[in-house]
Amino acid sequence: MSDWLRESLHPDYAQSLRVGTMIYDSETAHQRLKVFENGTFGRVLTLDDVVQVTEGDNFIYHEMMTHVPILAHGAARRVLIIGGGDGGMAREVLRHATVAHVTMVEIDAGVVDFSRKYLPMISAGAFDDPRLDLVIADGADFIRQTAGGYDVIIVDSTDPVGPGEVLFTDSFYGHAKRALTPDGILVTQNGVPFLQGAELTNTMRAFRALFVDATCYLATIPTYAGGPMAFGWGTDGPARATPLDVLQGRFNAAGIVTDYYTPDVHKAAFALPGYVARLLP
Ligand code: SAM
Repeated sequence: MSDWLRESLHPDYAQSLRVGTMIYDSETAHQRLKVFENGTFGRVLTLDDVVQVTEGDNFIYHEMMTHVPILAHGAARRVLIIGGGDGGMAREVLRHATVAHVTMVEIDAGVVDFSRKYLPMISAGAFDDPRLDLVIADGADFIRQTAGGYDVIIVDSTDPVGPGEVLFTDSFYGHAKRALTPDGILVTQNGVPFLQGAELTNTMRAFRALFVDATCYLATIPTYAGGPMAFGWGTDGPARATPLDVLQGRFNAAGIVTDYYTPDVHKAAFALPGYVARLLP
């Protein structure tokens, strides 16, 4: 009888992934960390039994949380990643030759050390890129103290339970706003609206108070179960209105081959179905 990992992030809904081979299972200083092989998704990383990243479908999540703000901005040189311990977000950001510097603030060194060893395909060398500055700290502490100047801030955190909870507060968002350049963009991992609607509403309420342009955009990642995932979007700049042909020109110039992101998908991702739009205050 095969083993299954049962993810019970939600009170009335769970997903299970067959555990082909358990590669690692241990406690870090902050959370329970597992990696196992799954026949469909390849290697799977879970923290406290919640899927964080899989070899098979991480491209959707990482492409949409990086290329959307970076190509919409058009001149992003300094990027801040909060979380992202597996290195996938840094991987995609660093594919942009125009990005001069990436600061990545991860609370759990165990996730980084572990991901380098057991999930090298996720970071794909990002940790060795000279443009990357890896900081092991609580993102909530870092954002209060940083001098800022970031063109894009990406919050690639766990869900708002455990260490990730502090990254879903008005205080954190306020400091993140202060850390942005005038036309800078803040994007956040904001869960699956069908099951985590209140989280999105709370984030959007904070964003509406902070930013001229506050909304979310969507993409469906199979192992973030329950339908499309929402990415919070906040900026005082005009980036969301960037015309399709300009996005296309920037995408072509970036010379990045993607499996999910295209400029058309980028624009379409901001079209919200009623049940999501109604979650925005
Ligand atoms: N893609 C995943 C998702 O959407 O849930 C997130 C993946 S990434 C592995 C999440 C990272 O956030 C983990 O490495 C975790 O250690 C980190 N994290 C959680 N709370 C944090 C905090 N307060 N400051 C910095 N990093 C944090």
